[in-house]
Amino acid sequence: MKVKNKLFLSLFFLFGVIILLGGMGSYYLRWLASDSAAIMKDNNRTLSYMRTIEESVDEVNYIILTNDTVKQEISSHFDSIKSIMEKQMANITEPGEQELTEKLSRSLKKLEEICNSQDLITPHFYSTFIVPIVHQVKDLSGSIYLINEKTMIQKNEQANATAEKAVLYMGIFCSVSIIIALVFMLGLPAYISKPLETFEEAIREIARGNYKVSIPAKTKDEYGELANSFNTMAAKLEEYEHSNLAKLIKEQKRLNAVINQLDEVILGLDENKRVIFANKHCIKLLDLERHKLIGKYAPDVATNNPLLNTMIKELMIGFLEDETVSYKPLKVVEDNKEKLFAKNIVDIVEKPTGTNRNVLMGHVVILTDVTNFAEKDKAKTHFIATLSHELKTPVSVIQMSAELLRNKKSGDLTENQKELLTTIENNNERIRRMINEVLDISKIESGTIDVTLAKENVEELIEKAIEGVQLFLDEKKLSINKLIMPKLPLIKVDAHKTVWVLNNFLTNAIRYAPKGSLLEVKAIHKDHRVEISVTDQGAGITHENQKKVFQKFTRLVKTESGGTGLGLAISKEFIEAMGASIGVYSKQGEGATFWIKCLPE
Ligand code: ADP
Repeated sequence: MKVKNKLFLSLFFLFGVIILLGGMGSYYLRWLASDSAAIMKDNNRTLSYMRTIEESVDEVNYIILTNDTVKQEISSHFDSIKSIMEKQMANITEPGEQELTEKLSRSLKKLEEICNSQDLITPHFYSTFIVPIVHQVKDLSGSIYLINEKTMIQKNEQANATAEKAVLYMGIFCSVSIIIALVFMLGLPAYISKPLETFEEAIREIARGNYKVSIPAKTKDEYGELANSFNTMAAKLEEYEHSNLAKLIKEQKRLNAVINQLDEVILGLDENKRVIFANKHCIKLLDLERHKLIGKYAPDVATNNPLLNTMIKELMIGFLEDETVSYKPLKVVEDNKEKLFAKNIVDIVEKPTGTNRNVLMGHVVILTDVTNFAEKDKAKTHFIATLSHELKTPVSVIQMSAELLRNKKSGDLTENQKELLTTIENNNERIRRMINEVLDISKIESGTIDVTLAKENVEELIEKAIEGVQLFLDEKKLSINKLIMPKLPLIKVDAHKTVWVLNNFLTNAIRYAPKGSLLEVKAIHKDHRVEISVTDQGAGITHENQKKVFQKFTRLVKTESGGTGLGLAISKEFIEAMGASIGVYSKQGEGATFWIKCLPE
């Protein structure tokens, strides 16, 4: 039976019980009322008639005894007796009452006749004829009175019995109804909620991805129908998942094939650093069997594989989010040939469905063979270095000649000639700086860069760097705001190179800051490092260009004063050779802050 019908029947039953209780109550009340009314009406009337007849007969008797001549009065009493008797004749209710009433009527008639037969009632006549009939009348009316009184008592008892019966029946009916209602009350909520709990649990299982769950369709009601629909849905979901899984496996195979075809070395790790995929080139280069790599915890495998260790070492040490990380190229021997691989680590970040924040899902380590490129690059730098070296002599000669020209012994110069000489000297100085930068970078590339670390005072280093650019600051009407934290510790750096780097930061800041603006040089002690930074109010650098500016020959903005695009590349090499770090914070349009972070002594 349907749940709807069951609920309807249950409520209908309870409704029926209420109606029945009401009906029974009113039926018994009416019954009691009718019993009581019966007692009141007919029998009571007869009792009153009988009392009146007795009183009237007593009156007649008294009149006869006291006033023997007043016949008129006697006949009026008999008239009222007659009318009462007529009423009594119409009010016969009990068995035997009819007969007694007829007898009484006859006796009363006889008494009237006797009373009317004598003009004068002598005492002898009274005692002989009247007294017996008066007694007879009184006996009969007494009997009628008794019959009715007895009946009244009986009816009263009957009403009491009816009341008791009503109380008993109502009590039984109420008890049975209460028991049934209790059964409904206790059973109905469970009957409705139990299947719902089963459904709730099954839905939770589905949410957990267990599509094998099914609900037994025991009943033929709505729950049964729902269970059938639910089971069909679960089966369809399972089918769908299988088909999706097959699709996913196919897609994964296709992706693996693509990755395997790539020349790059590709290694995929999950968020817990377990290897999830590695292409053929990677397996070959690592010289490992596939099953010893895939699914394994990468740092464990790396303990016996130095190349893997170098590939993932940055993932082992956390770095600050704002640090621009660049990875050193790796030298690897492959096919008996030394090759150079550029490394890049890409973090896989995703927003899980229903959330708003990014979650790290894993990393992909990519090695690109840059041997050819590096060789060409080396040849290019070598060529530029040779050229620069060759240029050093003429530049020095120009410098010396300019100095000689300024010498008074060479004769006086006009103001115009002096100005032209300053232009020659300035441009020659720029060429000299460029040559030095090119030579520095070629030295760096050939690995002949030497660093002498010593404990240095931060403020002194900053002062020296500012001193070197004072002239340019004045020229562009720029002012410097120095913010140096008190009690800064000494730092362990190569003083010459650090001043060179800060000088380069300041030169760039001056170059890219708007005229008359404010520069800021700041030194603070934070996170166990001393950070020295130079901030300008220039155009700033976009996020994607921030990494590029530390690469060789990068020039994002071509200024009139020119540049080689080597300054920051050299700075990076210098700073990293000292064991410190370098970077930039910037937002386009909001200036740039170039910083170095050095270790305190
Ligand atoms: P350059 O000699 O060209 O200045 P650098 O290596 O010092 O070479 O700088 C590389 C490039 O970085 C610059 O050409 C410029 O585009 C960008 N750059 C450097 N400093 C700043 C700065 N403070 N504001 C904006 N861009 C800058």
